[in-house]
Formats: sequence, structure tokens, C-alpha cells
Amino acid sequence: MTQTQMSPKNNVNNSKEEQRANINRLKESIDAEQLLGLLGFDISRTTSTEVRAVCKIHGGSNKSSFRMNKQTKNWVCFSQACQETIGYDVISLVRYMLNLSFTDAVKYLESITGINIHDEAAYVEYKRAKDRREFIQQMKDNRQIPMALVNEEYLKSFKKFRSNYFEKVKNGGFSTEVLNEFEIGGGYVDKYGFQRDVIPIRDENGELKAYSCRDITGKADEAFKYLLTKNFDKNKVLYNLDRAKSYMGKSRSLIVVEGFKSVWKLYMAGYKNVVSCIGSSITPGQQSLLYSYAFEVILFLDGDAAGIKGTAKALKDMKGKIKIIPIFFPYETRDPGDLNIEEFEEFDNIIRRA
Ligand SMILES: [Zn+2]
Repeated sequence: MTQTQMSPKNNVNNSKEEQRANINRLKESIDAEQLLGLLGFDISRTTSTEVRAVCKIHGGSNKSSFRMNKQTKNWVCFSQACQETIGYDVISLVRYMLNLSFTDAVKYLESITGINIHDEAAYVEYKRAKDRREFIQQMKDNRQIPMALVNEEYLKSFKKFRSNYFEKVKNGGFSTEVLNEFEIGGGYVDKYGFQRDVIPIRDENGELKAYSCRDITGKADEAFKYLLTKNFDKNKVLYNLDRAKSYMGKSRSLIVVEGFKSVWKLYMAGYKNVVSCIGSSITPGQQSLLYSYAFEVILFLDGDAAGIKGTAKALKDMKGKIKIIPIFFPYETRDPGDLNIEEFEEFDNIIRRA
């Protein structure tokens, strides 16, 4: 940098520019509907680009005379051109409506947006959260969980919103420690507005591949209790293999169950060498994974018709390729995830803690 560029004159210009940029960022962070609501405007309609309302400045009855641009927050009054006397930008509007100085109007906007325009980090965080909210809003129309949400950054956010659904005794009575261990999150809202808890699914190397999202409202149809990430190919993934592979012991033994909750319950009971085939059948890709990691497979599928069928099919498919120990689960309306810890004793001579 040369001496000329560092002249005081330039610094002044920079700081003015900076201030303008800060103000623009503040304006950008305002939620137009929220602000107009706070200022007492009666909003009649919101389009993708603007919010329309009765003009609170001159009064009147035209329901869409007042319009605010959602991006810039600039506004116009089509009935009386109120902007010509007040100024069409949002800070002027706030000054007029609340009778504030420029500085106090900026402070007011800082307080409602939750950002301080002099604090870069807070702004970046606010913007990120806002982007995420908007993104999820756009994705609500999908029946399946969009692939774009499957990354570590979103997972981190989901983790903050886990409900107590899985902690309830009737839903498994899982401990906070176990739910933390399995990184269970929440806050996903499906297209019907039903809230769901989020179960991350990783491959054998720990790479995040998908989510399964569990309805926690009890309102979703039976078939849609769990929603999987769109285009997720379960053929290549055994849930929890990334962790279970370290607990296979000398016999290199893996327990295979159908569901996520069964994995967690067995884990709580001390069986950490457990994986889920995410359904009642073990696919060819999942069979290959079993061959490459384990010497011995303990089939611990559900006791209903689908589970029995899945067990029979797995025995047939994998016969001669790996040692298979099938367990006939004796309850038709419960699965391993529904057992109490003590009830696992009944199976302990077969599934044994590694
Ligand atoms: Zn007006």
C-alpha cells in the first residue's frame, strides 16, 4: 500500500462507505412483516417481493396502498404518496412513526433484528440463521427430506432443536447421553407442518449420508412416521456401522436389527456391536458390508411377519458366506427397541456384550 492510499482523506471516505454498508446490512436483516406489525400496520397481503398494507401514515381504506419491498425495505404509498414528505427508506419510516432521531431509529432496528451493525460476527451469525430459516421454508413442499440439508452444518443446527420425544417412556425412554451419542436433533417441519426429530445416518466411515425424521406430533400417517432423505440409497449403508465396527470383538460379531431405536436400546443395554438395516430386509449391498467387516452376524429382526420374512431371506441369501445366528424375537407387537434393559438378559447367552 502506498502513502497516497493511506491519506486521511481516503480513510474518511472508507469509513463513510463502511457506514453505508452497515446501514444496508441492517436494512437487509429486517423482517418487513415483523417491522410493519410492530409499527401497527394492518398487513393485507404478502407477495414474494413485497408486503402490502393499509397506509397507516395517512389512514384511508385502500388495503394495498402501502407497499414495502422485502429486500430493500423501501416503501411507497400509492394513494397519497406519503413517501414524498417522509422519505421512502425504512429508517425514515421508523423515525416518523415512532418520532425518533436517526440514531435512535437505527438502535430500534438493531434491537428488533437482534444485530448490532458494529458487530461483524453477530451479523454473520444472524444472516446464516436467516438463510437457514428461508431455505427450510422453501423446502417444506417436499415430501422427503431434501438432500441439500444433509451436511454437518445443518446437522449442528438440528441438534439444538431436539425434542424430548424419545426420552418419554412410551417412546423408548432413551437417556440424554444415548440421544447425544447418536446425535439426535429436531426442528424439522414437514410439508404438513408436523414437527420431526432428526436421526442422522452415517456410512461405515462416519460420513453423513441421510436423515430419517420422526414425526413427534403423532399426527403423521402410519406410513410416514419416519421420512427419509430423498434419493438416499440404503443399499450401501448399515446404520451405526461406523461405531459398531470398533466393538466386534475377537469373533468379529455384528448384531443386525431393523430400526434405529433398537440400535439405541441395545447400546443402552451394553451391546455396542449393533447395526440397523433400516427396514426388515438386508439388501445385497448391506450383505456385502457385513461380509467385509464381520465373521459372524446375529439376526435380531422384529417378531412380526415382515421381520420373520426378512430373517428367512437373509438366512437364504447369506448361507455359506458368513456365520449367521438368527434370533426369533418372541413378541409380535414389540421390537427390540421396546424392550426394557433387563429383558435383554433373556437373549444374553446369544447376543452377548462384546
Ligand atoms: Zn399513505
